[in-house]
Amino acid sequence: MKKVLAKKFHFSLDMIRKPKWFNRLSPLIGIDLGTVNSLVYVSGKGIVVNEPSVVAVNKKTGKILAIGEKAQQMLGKTPPNILAIEPLINGVISDFETTEQMVKFFLREVKNKTTHFFYRPRVIVSIPMGATAVEQKSARDAVRNAGASDVYLVYEPIAAAIGAHAPIKQAIGQFVVDVGGGTTEIAVISLGGIVVAKSLQIAGNRLNKDIIQFAREKLNLLIGERSAEKAKIALGSALKLEDRLEGFLRGRDLIDGLPREILINDGHIRKAIHRSIETLIASIREVLEKTPPELLPDIMHRGIILTGGGALLRKLDKAIEESTQIKVHVIDDPLTAVVRGAGFILENFDEHQDLLIEP
Ligand code: ADP
Ligand code: MG
Repeated sequence: MKKVLAKKFHFSLDMIRKPKWFNRLSPLIGIDLGTVNSLVYVSGKGIVVNEPSVVAVNKKTGKILAIGEKAQQMLGKTPPNILAIEPLINGVISDFETTEQMVKFFLREVKNKTTHFFYRPRVIVSIPMGATAVEQKSARDAVRNAGASDVYLVYEPIAAAIGAHAPIKQAIGQFVVDVGGGTTEIAVISLGGIVVAKSLQIAGNRLNKDIIQFAREKLNLLIGERSAEKAKIALGSALKLEDRLEGFLRGRDLIDGLPREILINDGHIRKAIHRSIETLIASIREVLEKTPPELLPDIMHRGIILTGGGALLRKLDKAIEESTQIKVHVIDDPLTAVVRGAGFILENFDEHQDLLIEP
């Protein structure tokens, strides 16, 4: 009798807390809050926001001047009264209020680009595996303060694997490497969960720093982050290329203090980033060494999934293949994998909510 009552009571409580009809009215969206890029996916619409994670504020008044692309163009070029803030560091929130403002701006963009919301949206947010409980709470709070009704979290490699169409719920080992801006996340996934993982702070931003250091030490040239990023994308590679690439590196000559441009080639960039690439690959091997042997045949058969913006570095896949003897697949559109994965979860919410992190 008691059991029946409890069941009944629980049932009615559930109805009050989460009436399904109410949830259905509140739209579901997915947000990939990345160190470098933030993306938003709206159910039925696809990706509606894809912007750099940068906010420009007036130092004196605290007023926000620009967010995303417009703010990024100001990075490193701001007069003293303007501050360009990158509110996430290594995938986790370092500036809470600015992140909240940025998410608020994205939610407004979503509202402008879609039919009007009657209710506050429910949001799935991807977070790195290494995020602590406090950092997870901070992500939940920032997104809720920005206007979400419910916030659900999903680990980035899980979302990335789904974005790569990997059958992650089966008892098959999936090896995922997401090379982002702040961190590289390496994970082995099976039965919808993470079996072994490693997160390291060698990713796109570190490669840019390597190039800045190389230019300073070997070329006596002081260059900014944006120039390093451009050189990496134009000339960067993890292994020797068939065709030589050349381009100019522009900055300040450290000897006479004057502006200068130096003609460099892919070899220079390769040398600059060589050690970071080696460390990244060593970490992949480390995760392979810790992978339960039962999953290794699957991984050998299915290969390594490479995603994130860093996956676009020329021949990174080949360098990983050479070192691990395992085939590497760079997925289509690696920069959007995580948000597309979050999108897939929200579009099949009842089926896949077990992939979300328990609050
Ligand atoms: P995050 O999720 O951390 O925001 P992303 O997955 O959006 O990172 O990837 C951003 C990183 O990808 C940046 O560091 C950027 O320099 C790098 N990236 C983008 N395109 C390329 C490319 N063609 N070659 C090398 N790196 C790239
Ligand atoms: Mg990312």
